[in-house]
Amino acid sequence: MTVKTILPEDKLPTRWYNIAPDMPEGSLKPPLNPATGEPVGPEALTPIFPMSLIMQEVSTERFIDIPEEVREIYKLWRPSPLFRARRLEKALDTPARIYYKYEGGSPAGSHKPNTAVPQAYYNREAGIKRIATETGAGQWGCSMALATQLFGMECTVYMVKVSYEQKPYRRSMMEVWGAEVLASPTDRTNSGRQILAETPDSLGSLGIAISEASEDAATHDDTNYSLGSVLNHVLLHQTVVGEEAVQQMEMNDVYPDIIIGCIGGGSNYAGLAFPFMRERLAGNRNTEFLAAEPTSCPTVTKGKYTYDFGDTLCSTPLLMMHTLGHDFMPPGIHAGGLRYHAMAPLISALVDAGHMNAVAYGQTEVFDAAVQFARNEGIVPAPESSHAIKAAIDKALEYKEAGEEKVILFNLSGHGHFDMSAYDQYLGGSLIDYAYPEEKIKESMAKLPKM
Ligand SMILES: *Cc1c(COP(=O)(O)O)cnc(C)c1O
Repeated sequence: MTVKTILPEDKLPTRWYNIAPDMPEGSLKPPLNPATGEPVGPEALTPIFPMSLIMQEVSTERFIDIPEEVREIYKLWRPSPLFRARRLEKALDTPARIYYKYEGGSPAGSHKPNTAVPQAYYNREAGIKRIATETGAGQWGCSMALATQLFGMECTVYMVKVSYEQKPYRRSMMEVWGAEVLASPTDRTNSGRQILAETPDSLGSLGIAISEASEDAATHDDTNYSLGSVLNHVLLHQTVVGEEAVQQMEMNDVYPDIIIGCIGGGSNYAGLAFPFMRERLAGNRNTEFLAAEPTSCPTVTKGKYTYDFGDTLCSTPLLMMHTLGHDFMPPGIHAGGLRYHAMAPLISALVDAGHMNAVAYGQTEVFDAAVQFARNEGIVPAPESSHAIKAAIDKALEYKEAGEEKVILFNLSGHGHFDMSAYDQYLGGSLIDYAYPEEKIKESMAKLPKM
């Protein structure tokens, strides 16, 4: 019985899948200029992004060629393996078949280099010398540090201060790959200075770090900004995951009944899901799509589908997306990559159109699932990915109750080797479950831009 499916090198995807032309009629709403309420044109983004990525952001082409140089670098960790979780199935005594795509084998340990590499590539092609970006828990900063290093570029990472202090090894890893890492808020940008003037001991947030990095890029000609999730071109690059998985599932003669993933900004889940969603949108399949998020940052399950800013200081265009309000500061859960206030517009639109559902979990039940998974399948998963594992286990048990032999496919977006202090807390019984932050969400939602 096959446990691990590897795609032959001559079957590696040569194109990314752009879901935009297949989206339900009228479901995609344009980004708006917050001052005028009018749609923003591509030129509004040229101070911080190269035109090639802006064109991908607004592209209506169904497939976009992956540049040769990017495909060569992808080969350092791609194809990623597809596993069947036979031991977990047995432990759960479920008739369901559980498959997972493992993205933790990249040098940075997650799916994020799948987009960091093409983003660095297109910026270098445009003559850009340095990338300024933000990182929360450190996974995105590591991925961009790696990618810029591979293309001979410089990298400045604004790392949320609380993580900078709590995750020194992520910082070291970025420095090994040659990046400069700063604890945000810094005194280098107007945004950082403004925050420090109001709150000198601010621990920072992803929203603040985004404001700092994008200001750095906008004020330096040789520097561009780069985002690790949410935007259309980021989700596009991640579809290399799903394009591989479609073929790997075929090699096993199965088609998934349900596709599961964790969602922070939505990119790893979109990457796996969209090439399968293509068949659903075409009316060929009735596959179920389920995204998992934390109860303490319940963007899709409790947020509002409306226009909001992507950053805390309101410097981005307005995007139509599920949001908890741009200044919502989620509790300090260990799944740092899931602590963003909003969701990718493409994922949000698919949820709104009824093609996807979401479920939210507390931190302790997520670690229960993570440890059960590690003890059966071996891999120690990232806390973010463990939300997907929890959802997959719940579904497998539901199918057991119903006696259904369904096929589950989920994305295991990364390993948890830098999260061992979280596992320590869990094993020591000191992991806390945060209550659903209803009041804080109400407060930040009251500050949503009035449309
Ligand atoms: C960043 C991260 C996530 C969340 O980001 P998405 O854009 O939603 O994929 C999930 N898992 C891991 C391992 C991450 O590093």
